[in-house]
Amino acid sequence: MKSTALTIEIHQPNEDITSRFSSFSRLIRVVSWMYRFINNAKSKLPDRVFSSQLSVQELQVSETVLFKLHQQHFMSKELAALKTKMAVSVSSPLHSLHPILDCHGVLHVGGRLSQSGLSYSQCHPVILHKKAHLSKLIVHHLHIDHFHAGPTLLMGLLAQCYYMIGARRLVRNISRNCVICQKTYARTSSQIMGELPSARIMPAPSFSKTGEDFAGPVTLKRGHTRKPSYVKAYISLFICLATKAVHLELVSSLSTADFLAAFRRFVARRGCPVEVLSDNGTHFVGAVVFANYQLNLMDFDGFTYIVMSVERGHDKWNAQQYPNIN
Ligand SMILES: [Zn+2]
Repeated sequence: MKSTALTIEIHQPNEDITSRFSSFSRLIRVVSWMYRFINNAKSKLPDRVFSSQLSVQELQVSETVLFKLHQQHFMSKELAALKTKMAVSVSSPLHSLHPILDCHGVLHVGGRLSQSGLSYSQCHPVILHKKAHLSKLIVHHLHIDHFHAGPTLLMGLLAQCYYMIGARRLVRNISRNCVICQKTYARTSSQIMGELPSARIMPAPSFSKTGEDFAGPVTLKRGHTRKPSYVKAYISLFICLATKAVHLELVSSLSTADFLAAFRRFVARRGCPVEVLSDNGTHFVGAVVFANYQLNLMDFDGFTYIVMSVERGHDKWNAQQYPNIN
């Protein structure tokens, strides 16, 4: 006995075909192939199209069909009113847009830009509903097509062809939920900074408590000849920890001797500091070692204070505190 299997598929007439797709371009192409099949089935053999490529016209027809289906679902009252040459109801959210129908029966924004020289889609964008899946596909397509455009750019791109009331939220959601954008613009975690040293938060005369660091290198032109030589130099920054005032000194190298000369100039101008904080730069460590051994030869007390700071304890040179002093 021969058995026969029968499969019945029920299609709901109100089913949204766009909900089956996650890509606008794929949706357009699938609809275009469907329309080509229907047209070929209706046509005689010589008129049938057998090309493996879809034409621009076929894609545009599919786009128009999708817009019409979308508007029939979400804007049926406005469409019915305009088809009977009636005005759109005052209570309709589209009333202020003065919508018009094009030759294909698609709703567009009316506007007053038809004499502006802009394209038809810019003067009269297609009206779309923000909650429709088709709108999400279009925004997502623009987002991907323009290299993961941000919300502001996306709003501008959208306004060139489409009009959605309240599109900003949809655009923001699409940008926010994009996995690639999330990875690209992810915020790095920040560490909690340590306690501020007392020199930073206690009142004191200017430059009595000073932070020191080097900046650079910078290039210096040496001499006024036709072919001057260029040398590398550094800037020694002396920062008042109480007032954030800055004193700059030019240093010709990173050597201890040049730093001592810069420090001498700083003390001559601003007075001798009570406390100097610095990182463990070799120039500063070298200056302290130099002062330790040759303290008797110093003709001012600046180095004494440095040496005292170091001798009191290395916490003054604690690298963990140093990021807080500047
Ligand atoms: Zn993205």
